[in-house]
Amino acid sequence: MLLEWLWQQSFVSASAVFFALNILIFAGALAAGKFIDHFFNPGKENAGRFTATELLLSCSTVCINSAITSGGWLLWKAGVIRLNTQAAWWQILRDTAVLVLAMDLALYILHRIAHIPLFYKIAHYKHHEYKEVTVLTLFVMSPLEALGFGTLWVFTLCFFSFSIEAVALFLNMNLYFGITAHAGTAIYPERLRRFVSALGFTYPDFHRLHHENERVNMGFYTRIWDVLLKTSREAQ
Ligand SMILES: [Zn+2]
Ligand SMILES: [Zn+2]
Repeated sequence: MLLEWLWQQSFVSASAVFFALNILIFAGALAAGKFIDHFFNPGKENAGRFTATELLLSCSTVCINSAITSGGWLLWKAGVIRLNTQAAWWQILRDTAVLVLAMDLALYILHRIAHIPLFYKIAHYKHHEYKEVTVLTLFVMSPLEALGFGTLWVFTLCFFSFSIEAVALFLNMNLYFGITAHAGTAIYPERLRRFVSALGFTYPDFHRLHHENERVNMGFYTRIWDVLLKTSREAQ
């Protein structure tokens, strides 16, 4: 099994695997962005164009994400992070829901803090320099911000022996939400958007509106905290 194989690796070879995996995720996200542009946003003016700063910050995010994954591997080897490999289906569902809700609340709070002018000037402004988002924007952030998100994720995993399937589901969902939120287009048909919104989840246009108006739509996965704290703005 993959986990057993990872357990037996040295730190250097495990880190090389995580670096390759993060490059693959980055390349996959950019390919998904191209796919979305082709089908949902033909003729998009800035498609495929990016500045040297955007590229440099994206590379730094990929490196930091790899380093965080290696850090998580060390904590797993040390027994600080424990993963449940024999979870029943209901445990997988429960753990996925807990991870989504816990990370959603923590990210909402941190996002609100990141927008306080003092902190905004230190880190979060970098992600907001690009009003017209592309999938690359998902990776364009201050190294401090990438480090903060990664640390929060690893910290969350230390609290409970989550099922490995729930961890994988959450990571895939996080990537899906990140890519679609920075696709720069609505993607979902109106009825689907309303349905997803009614369930309390965010939809691709939700975060795009945050890039247009930084006072609204601070949530990442759910709209719960935006609605409760009156920072929600629906797409028209
Ligand atoms: Zn964004
Ligand atoms: Zn923001």
